[in-house]
Amino acid sequence: MKKFVLAIHGGAGTILKKNMTTDKENAYHEALREALEAGNDVLNKKGTSIEAVSVAVAMMEDSPLFNAGKGSVYSNSGKNEMEASIMEGGDLRAGAIAGVKNIKNPIQLAKSILFDDDFVYLIGEGAEEYAAKRKLEKAADEYFHTQFRKDQWLAAKGEGKVLLDHDADKKFGTVGAVALDIYGNLAAATSTGGLTNKKYGRIGDSSVIGSGTYANNNTCAISCTGYGEFFLRAIVAYDVSCLMEYKGLSLKEACDQVVMKKLVEMKGEGGLIALSSHGDFEFSFNSEGMYRGVVGSELSLKTYIYK
Ligand code: ASP
Repeated sequence: MKKFVLAIHGGAGTILKKNMTTDKENAYHEALREALEAGNDVLNKKGTSIEAVSVAVAMMEDSPLFNAGKGSVYSNSGKNEMEASIMEGGDLRAGAIAGVKNIKNPIQLAKSILFDDDFVYLIGEGAEEYAAKRKLEKAADEYFHTQFRKDQWLAAKGEGKVLLDHDADKKFGTVGAVALDIYGNLAAATSTGGLTNKKYGRIGDSSVIGSGTYANNNTCAISCTGYGEFFLRAIVAYDVSCLMEYKGLSLKEACDQVVMKKLVEMKGEGGLIALSSHGDFEFSFNSEGMYRGVVGSELSLKTYIYK
């Protein structure tokens, strides 16, 4: 059987061992492991990379530990407004959504758009209407609620600040996955609740194809996490792919160039997971840590938190 690989992240940021408890560490490792196992199972049963990344991301959306789906941060209006995107590297199909509420798994909505020839990117009520048409599972406001995020929001609102999940509790909590399937196809997916206390319909890089998510069988699949405004301006995911495609850099060289040089110079904190069409992977981040993990046909399952 041909090789398959799945890598995931659960956000990057100032994740320091001294601020962690063993229980919390274990909970993160466990949540990452579950997502990797679920995605790996898809690939092992000859499923596609698109299916694997969406299953892995949906598992992390269901976990309150991450800033995506259940456990998303609160916007200025006290709601959980989410965004997600997904892309496959064969014929460059993509699906993206932003500013959606009450959709249990935003990544499933992005995925159904990927398979729709008429659209790539839907936002707000229109996207919710589309989800209803596709009979995607809805969830009440309470489902997304976590006291921890609510307290973050109330504190941010009290100070009149818009906070990255990172500023609030020293990490970004966006989730993402990249996969290579046995058919040689790459896919990437990213999902987030965005920033605590965000307003004016702010969206970040996570749902923007080319910035937070990109996949191309000629080069690589990428999912990012970090300070969205910088990732948007640096067009991070596509930039890594371009450096490989047009400049002939290796996956590692391209990631280093973008994450450790370009973003650092811009003061854009964060990182990404990357997977080449040969199945090589990179975890690249300029922050203290990144929740992450990898598994594959020739790789035993591994999860990591710190540098
Ligand atoms: N990139 C996300 C955003 O700016 C944040 C994150 O990665 O947690 O919305």
